[in-house]
Amino acid sequence: MNYPESLSDFHLTAQLIDNIDAGVVMLDREYRVMTWNTFMKAYSGISADQIMGENIFEVIPDLPQEWLKNKIQSTFKLGTRSFSCWEDRPYIFHFINFSPVTGGMAAMYQNMTLTPLKALDGEYRHICLTITDVSDIARSKTHLRESNAQLTHLSITDKLTQLHNRGHWESCLSNEFDHCRHSQSVASLVMFDIDHFKKVNDTFGHVAGDAVIKSISSLLKKAKRQSDIAGRYGGEEFGVILPGTTAELAQYFTHRLRNRIQESLVKVDVRDIRVTISLGICEWASWMNSYEQWLECADSALYQSKRQGRNRCTLYQSTTEQCAAMRGIS
Ligand code: GH3
Ligand code: MG
Ligand code: MG
Repeated sequence: MNYPESLSDFHLTAQLIDNIDAGVVMLDREYRVMTWNTFMKAYSGISADQIMGENIFEVIPDLPQEWLKNKIQSTFKLGTRSFSCWEDRPYIFHFINFSPVTGGMAAMYQNMTLTPLKALDGEYRHICLTITDVSDIARSKTHLRESNAQLTHLSITDKLTQLHNRGHWESCLSNEFDHCRHSQSVASLVMFDIDHFKKVNDTFGHVAGDAVIKSISSLLKKAKRQSDIAGRYGGEEFGVILPGTTAELAQYFTHRLRNRIQESLVKVDVRDIRVTISLGICEWASWMNSYEQWLECADSALYQSKRQGRNRCTLYQSTTEQCAAMRGIS
């Protein structure tokens, strides 16, 4: 049988659109569906017969109507293609498919393209909406992002206490030092160390010692403000940066922390362990040349607390020479 060439071409094109591995929808300016391919039918459960000639937003009410209408209107207006990426909007049509990764049913991540279609008279009266399933890419990218976030967390966190580890905490201290220097703002540094901790290990064992370190870390997390930055500096030595806090005000924090620690009992098996801490406070001063110097001053205040009998806090006092050096007096 002989068919006109144009009809034969149309027949082939219709099959092509129907069998493409992407959703293809043609809409007119009133959002009526003119084409609805097999992909759309398979995932929506809506046949071409049910939707052809109907307003797409009436048949599928859970579409992001306002957003999609705006996008369609601007595509018509500009006469150029527009896109939507799964990273901005995970999906347009709420399609569910089987995920070999999760082993269950999951929402399909989609990219969408809107192409204005030019009629023979040069007018744009129809738009082609294509949907591509990018679930595999989206899932592996999301998984990669989560793994990276987890790795970052692991690389900056102390395993035993879940506080910042020394490396990361020191870089926070360095940042705070630079901030104080540039904006001449106030900040205090607190260093503290558990008293007679060797005795805890020797008497109760290393596991009990670890439990004490953990318990002190959780008391520290509760006693500090959200903006204070706490880290495990060494085995049983900790550092806390208190941005925007004078040494005088930092004493409220150290007093609270020291009291809570000396009042709390760490239960290990049937035994109760009580420890105390010694602390040193040093407020940032403009004569300091580096964050290491700031750290040394807080540490020297801490060791003064040790020398003076432990379970106490010492405020670092800048020497006259240090202040004079800053003012340029020899
Ligand atoms: P001081 O009051 O002068 O601080 O006495 P101290 O016994 O606490 O002395 P020091 O601070 O020098 O002791 C640190 C001890 O802490 C030595 C080490 O065995 C122990 N330690 C360090 N890291 C850990 C840890 O992660 N777990 C346990 N259980 N012990 C640790
Ligand atoms: Mg100690
Ligand atoms: Mg120590």
